[in-house]
Amino acid sequence: MKSFIDEAEIARILEQNKKPDPVKVRYVLDKAKEMKGLDLEDVAVLSNISDPMQLFELFEEANHIKENIYGKRLVIFAPLYISNLCANECSYCAFRAKNKSIARRSLTQDEIVRETEILIKQGHKRLLVVAGESYPRQGFQYVIDSIASVYQAKVGNGEIRRVNVNVAPLEVAEFKLLKDAKIGTYQLFQETYHHETYHNVHTGGKKKDYDYRITALHRAMEAGIDDVGIGVLFGLFDFRFELLALMQHIRELERVFGVGPHTISVPRLEPATGSDIASHPPFAVADLDFRKIVAILRLAVPYTGIIMSTRETAQMRRETFALGVSQISAGSRTNPGGYTDSLHEDDGSQFCLGDHRPLDEVIRDVAEMGYIPSFCTGCYRLGRTGQDFMDRAKPGDIKNHCGPNAISTFMEYLMDYASYETRLIGEDLIDDIIDSMDGIARERAVNLLEKVKKGKHDMYC
Ligand code: SAM
Ligand code: SF4
Repeated sequence: MKSFIDEAEIARILEQNKKPDPVKVRYVLDKAKEMKGLDLEDVAVLSNISDPMQLFELFEEANHIKENIYGKRLVIFAPLYISNLCANECSYCAFRAKNKSIARRSLTQDEIVRETEILIKQGHKRLLVVAGESYPRQGFQYVIDSIASVYQAKVGNGEIRRVNVNVAPLEVAEFKLLKDAKIGTYQLFQETYHHETYHNVHTGGKKKDYDYRITALHRAMEAGIDDVGIGVLFGLFDFRFELLALMQHIRELERVFGVGPHTISVPRLEPATGSDIASHPPFAVADLDFRKIVAILRLAVPYTGIIMSTRETAQMRRETFALGVSQISAGSRTNPGGYTDSLHEDDGSQFCLGDHRPLDEVIRDVAEMGYIPSFCTGCYRLGRTGQDFMDRAKPGDIKNHCGPNAISTFMEYLMDYASYETRLIGEDLIDDIIDSMDGIARERAVNLLEKVKKGKHDMYC
């Protein structure tokens, strides 16, 4: 397959829009209001603005689009690291093969069940299974077994209802196994789309192969996985280049499969044991530019979820909710066994976290800001994935499902898992949100809420 990342085109567009004319900036911001997305040139224009007034307008518009499409919802999940064995040499990652300074471990299936039970007891309903690129003797079957172990774990009325996966690129036949294992989203970050940088930071193992990685989401979709997630590891190369390349990747998936990615992740390089580059990113992204990245993506692909992990501090996470973030992780550990053995957080971790707060504290904070934490897994379980999801999302129909489902799953969380203080704040918020709703969305929300209050679980529409 011919590479669809055209570096010459990106360089040309960035050069032409280095100092964007205010008229052009206005045109792009007006175009964004239509919520039909932006093209490469528009993204180049916005990525080069620095005037405070223009930035203010960009952030305002991002907030407007986010509230229009997603309302006040924030979907909550936790990562589950099952193994830190890895055969690759990614210079920024503590799991790289030659790094001798971390303890290596792959969890047994019993340990995976135990870790999952801890997350269930905290109130989680969605997990992201993560692993390095080397599996114990079972090979790739280890990942499939691990997913089954997560789904099998139950504690009282709690269970994990959606497992997303972030593991190394696979062949189509293996992706079919992942689909059969009932995963939600398959997530894979290109890390950097810049060929030269890619080769400089990936010096050993299969991950050296840029083309094999960049075509992985094609293979996943070919295997029938509707929801795929993309991302860039910001800090390795110029963020403007990465944004335009990300757009080329998205447009290519849309061209071939008729639908783009379900989510975009925006990890910034964080310090990692045994990695120099992770502590001194060659293209460190300043906080203001990071907020700009989130806002531009919200305008460029309004219907694609944006994920914010606990790599970022609580304060940065808070600021980005208003700029377009729709999913956040909470209470995360990035070392296998980290939930069971929470005292040894740094031992075997992939990178340092910016937000260490437990789930209950994050939920309380989010609710105090007026956002509804959603534990909903309805779309995926009703088959509203891929093209079907986008078809519904575009006319705003998804709001009539997601709004009520967020409220019912949040109430379930408050009744089953929240601290007293969080429950009071959460219930007040639910009352306020219901008051602000009308039509079919309100009718559905009230109906679901009544059932949850009577003790029913897993209510969604
Ligand atoms: N091993 C698989 C791979 O590389 O695709 C999947 C799991 S890997 C643990 C998940 C992601 O962690 C990587 O894609 C990378 O973007 C991110 N990561 C690695 N080192 C990091 C660091 N120092 N700071 C922030 N994110 C990092
Ligand atoms: Fe291994 Fe993934 Fe870390 Fe690279 S980023 S060293 S492939 S775990």
